[in-house]
Amino acid sequence: MRNSWRRLALSAGLALAMVASVSAQRGLEIYSIDVEGGQATLLVSPDRESLLIDAGWPGERDARRIMAATKDAGVTQIDYFVNTHFHGDHFGSVPDLMPILPIRTLVDSGSLTETSERSVAAFQVYAKERAKGRHLIVKAGDRVPIKGLDVQVVISGGTPLARPLPGAGSSNPMCKDVAPQPMDPSEDARSVGVLVTHGRFRMIDLGDLTWNKEQELACPGNLVGTVDLYISTRHGLNGAGNPALVHALRPRVAIINNAGKKGASREHFLTMKSAPGIEDIWQLHYSLVRPGVPGLRETSDPGGPELNTGEALIANPDDATEFPLRVSARTDGSFVVLNPRNGHRKEYAAKR
Ligand SMILES: [Zn+2]
Ligand SMILES: [Zn+2]
Repeated sequence: MRNSWRRLALSAGLALAMVASVSAQRGLEIYSIDVEGGQATLLVSPDRESLLIDAGWPGERDARRIMAATKDAGVTQIDYFVNTHFHGDHFGSVPDLMPILPIRTLVDSGSLTETSERSVAAFQVYAKERAKGRHLIVKAGDRVPIKGLDVQVVISGGTPLARPLPGAGSSNPMCKDVAPQPMDPSEDARSVGVLVTHGRFRMIDLGDLTWNKEQELACPGNLVGTVDLYISTRHGLNGAGNPALVHALRPRVAIINNAGKKGASREHFLTMKSAPGIEDIWQLHYSLVRPGVPGLRETSDPGGPELNTGEALIANPDDATEFPLRVSARTDGSFVVLNPRNGHRKEYAAKR
């Protein structure tokens, strides 16, 4: 299937002018690319440097979708690739992507700690590609040195910031109500999490970070502060979405990088929906999650209208399309979210 989301949009006769007007503002451009329940989030700075957070699943499909987004954004290389953690739905397409889209610097937490044969084999494929570019290992407190944006690592390899960011650190009343979950030995708990700041606009992406590590960022005091945009952690699956963190972040908008049958699970969705100050939740897919689906143990509750956002805010209501969601953010903290499928566009005014 060679139809890119962009060509689909054109063939549907959608308002291109609307897309152009979003581009013309030359702020921070963000593409939440549909990689069917993996993650690939492309950021293009006002200085036209590019940062790709994760690269979706193995194979040509997600490499092609990432290419389509970079073409739309007018960038011809990835200046920084942040691999949040060593799972196939986050670094998978790198071997297919690198030959068609140069990646200059690959950023991650260092090395794999999972020991299963499958994990090791997958990691070795990534590590071979990583050796072809510049490699940067980051820890909490480091910055990804992209021009025109502040990209601050808030957690990496399981270790969060040692002290609160400027303006953060207030004690968090929710901490006493949230119990820890069993220790997560997987790479998820070692995810690299970044806070991206563009003037007064702030976005957080924590990869697949899980509950107890989210709690370390939020308790006893919130180390991060508040954000405008929350890329739902771990695709909106349970095991992430600790309310002590999600509510302390006070996101105005959440984007869930789910698939039809992965992510946007009940508790995480309801946590986002009840976060103080939340204005909208956008989704890459309509969630069809049903009880007892093999391989989806974290998402044991049914989807349906009460656990999905409005249709206009969903990029792909069924699995036949591959639209991204787009965000354009300005230094005053205002931003626009655009659904290229239907041209639905919502402006979020700067906070006073
Ligand atoms: Zn994942
Ligand atoms: Zn993962």
